[in-house]
Amino acid sequence: MTRPKRYDVVVVGAGNAALTAALAAHEEGASVLVLEKAPVSLRGGNTYFTGGAIRFAYDGIEDMKRLMPELSPEEVRSMDVGSYPESAFYSDLMRVTEGMSDPELAQVLVGESKPAMMWLREQGMRFVPLWGRQAFKVGNVYRFWGGLTVEAVGGGKGLSDQLFSMLERRGIEVRYETKATRLLMDQRGWVTGATVRGPRGFHDIASRSVVLASGGFEANAEMRARYLGPGWEMAKVRGTQFNTGDGIRMALDIGAQPYGNWSGCHAVAWDMNAPPYGDRQITDLFQKHSYPFGIIVNLKGERFVDEGADFRNYTYAKYGREILYQPQRLAFQLFDAKVTQLWRDEYRIPQVTKAVANTIEELAEKLDIHKEGLVATVRAFNAAVQPGEFDPTKLDGKHTVGVQPPKSNWALPLDTPPFHGFGVTCGITFTFGGLRIDKRAQVLDTEENLIPGLYAAGELVGGLFYSNYPGGSGLCAGAVLGRIAGTSAAQDARRIPQPLEAPA
Ligand SMILES: Cc1cc2nc3c(=O)[nH]c(=O)nc-3n(C[C@H](O)[C@H](O)[C@H](O)COP(=O)(O)OP(=O)(O)OC[C@H]3O[C@@H](n4cnc5c(N)ncnc54)[C@H](O)[C@@H]3O)c2cc1C
Repeated sequence: MTRPKRYDVVVVGAGNAALTAALAAHEEGASVLVLEKAPVSLRGGNTYFTGGAIRFAYDGIEDMKRLMPELSPEEVRSMDVGSYPESAFYSDLMRVTEGMSDPELAQVLVGESKPAMMWLREQGMRFVPLWGRQAFKVGNVYRFWGGLTVEAVGGGKGLSDQLFSMLERRGIEVRYETKATRLLMDQRGWVTGATVRGPRGFHDIASRSVVLASGGFEANAEMRARYLGPGWEMAKVRGTQFNTGDGIRMALDIGAQPYGNWSGCHAVAWDMNAPPYGDRQITDLFQKHSYPFGIIVNLKGERFVDEGADFRNYTYAKYGREILYQPQRLAFQLFDAKVTQLWRDEYRIPQVTKAVANTIEELAEKLDIHKEGLVATVRAFNAAVQPGEFDPTKLDGKHTVGVQPPKSNWALPLDTPPFHGFGVTCGITFTFGGLRIDKRAQVLDTEENLIPGLYAAGELVGGLFYSNYPGGSGLCAGAVLGRIAGTSAAQDARRIPQPLEAPA
């Protein structure tokens, strides 16, 4: 096949958003080229490191059966998925972002979430219920909670591999070790391609439209410090080292509008001894998300967040920031023997920083926590726990009275040895600030005009998430906006006349 001189659509990046955009553009009949900065051995972006859990609006078990026709009748009978209507997804998004999420974008995300999932399924993607991480067994039934019910087969690695296979089956070319460095524009202000730096140096690639899907600036220490604030350059990066804000910068350079929560990001409790960037074997297992069933303290032995403020899906993404602000950016999640059966899988990996002790004093010594401080905290906390029925499948209201911060749900005294402590720090996932797009995922400039030929999807879109984030929405946003961006880019590429001049 001869390579077209000018592609209809060039997609920058090869994560979930980019590959979804490439599939959608190809479905529209466009010639598509994907540019990926990473070598093939490190491909997949942050998407590879995810748990592959995807939030979407659904009406009940019938939608699950449509999405996962492989489920056996026994499995279907054993699932209590309830329903997660669009209104619930929308209100969760608005609640956790304190009403800041752009209403138009939020509506697109929520309203297009189920169609995008069903479309991915038609394209060949396979999903499974999140049995282990998002369901608790009650009698013979798995009760799913928190609006997050499915994951891609194989988690993030599986999601990434499945998407690359879909592209391969369609003959869509991915060029690795090819970093987009600059957007090309003709004299009318239409985007006509990109300059790239590939294995043989710099050259220009001509296209009728460009979809930017190259992630946020979480792996760029300088940008983190500049936009997120002092100290953020020292956070650990949970995922890829390649998301250094290139797409955002390239777009701003040609007049795109910065949008959203530029000082905000998704950051979680992450093993204190994890490497500086994501590990492709461990992927997301350095995270520690079972803290609602214990307490979190700093080196002084003091609590600093309400561990049970909400389901962990609605608090975990903002608590990384709270950990960053503690002495030495360290915190410790403490549990007693009553709750160890509720731990997520990530607490049982060999690469975990943990200590076990028969007394709180001994635990403090083993973890280098201030002993008197911790003993006083645990004593006050235990005395503050109110009676009530503990139920991990719902906001049980079992709370504390008289300690600051309070614990609003799942408050149990730490009184049953052995006691377990896990050392964590702040791991940044992705940044919230980015580019402004319209409903068709086309990028707006600072005067609110559409930039012809430029589209964006995934992490580098601003305006959806502010301060916090409902778990599983990142992959959903990538799939929804990637699909829309690819479709729009292909449709517009067909409609627009030839650019005035082709780049050399
Ligand atoms: C450990 C971890 C766990 C997570 N778990 C979940 C989860 O379970 N559910 C969920 O919804 N979200 C999860 N997330 C968030 C999720 O990863 C992101 O929301 C989503 O993957 C972003 O997709 P994307 O396509 O925008 O970016 P990415 O998947 O990061 O892709 C961006 C790509 O662009 C490439 N690139 C960068 N610059 C250039 C350039 N100049 N030229 C060419 N290519 C470039 C990068 O190499 C990368 O491949 C998790 C993230 C991490 C790190």
